[in-house]
Amino acid sequence: MSKGPRIESPTIITPATAAAITGPVLAWYAAAARDLPWRRADRTAWGVMVSEFMLQQTPVARVLEPWQQWLTRWPQPIDLALAPAGEAVRAWGRLGYPRRALRLHAAATEIVERHDGVVPAEEAELRALPGVGAYTAAAIASFAHGRQAVVLDTNVRRVIARAVAGSAQPPPSPTVAERALAESLIPAADPAGWAAASMELGALVCTATGPDCAACPLRDRCRWVLLGRPAYAGPPRRGQAYAGTDRQVRGLLLGVLREHDGPVEAPTLDAVWADSVQRERALGSLVDDGLAIRIGDNHYGLPR
Ligand code: SF4
Repeated sequence: MSKGPRIESPTIITPATAAAITGPVLAWYAAAARDLPWRRADRTAWGVMVSEFMLQQTPVARVLEPWQQWLTRWPQPIDLALAPAGEAVRAWGRLGYPRRALRLHAAATEIVERHDGVVPAEEAELRALPGVGAYTAAAIASFAHGRQAVVLDTNVRRVIARAVAGSAQPPPSPTVAERALAESLIPAADPAGWAAASMELGALVCTATGPDCAACPLRDRCRWVLLGRPAYAGPPRRGQAYAGTDRQVRGLLLGVLREHDGPVEAPTLDAVWADSVQRERALGSLVDDGLAIRIGDNHYGLPR
């Protein structure tokens, strides 16, 4: 990969240029898309919403089984809202970032209380729900309701950065110019299709570390390739360490709490991590986050 100057993104593209990009990607998607249950014709808005919560920073392969179990157990928001929050944390299993389970439970409760149990279609209403940020609101509006929305996840951002802006990676977080560029790409005839297709291209072909350009529908017009694949020259990007972090310890502690129906004695939790200072800090943060509760002087459990 050659070192090169920082490539400034075009902030707007013409409809003809947009069509020359979206058309081949939509055609590729029609033939290559994975058959995922939250994309099928019989999907529900709630199923899409659950998938979007689970897919945050989590690969599809790890989400398929928990998603199916979740929808079987809680097919509508009201079913989850009526369950204890701790059951949502337990069912989240090993998906990671378990605060998502609590937020999904809280969102289900708000959907029941403020939207008659129906997942709203307006992005503003979705964003007002717990755990729903700009990306998730746009994704639910688009995939569940077919609305025109700027769906900017990591995969979509990488495809646009490379194919249109000519940069190896997008900036660390979305910029105003990036959103404007993404918006100018959306085909009015199939906004949801474009969102899904560009996301799938980033997940399967234009991957972070090994883009398979030979298999890409944009190989003949990708700006990054035409520029000679210049190295990323933007602001530094944060890595995500896991081993040895408090996040790992929290996951181990929560795993023990999930395995028990009732309160767990503190010595049982002590066994999962030798460093007592880090273990206590992790346990305290689980309690602070509402993912665990202290019971008496010497026991812990999932929230009720
Ligand atoms: S040609 Fe390569 S770098 Fe460009 S969009 Fe396709 S896979 Fe990504």
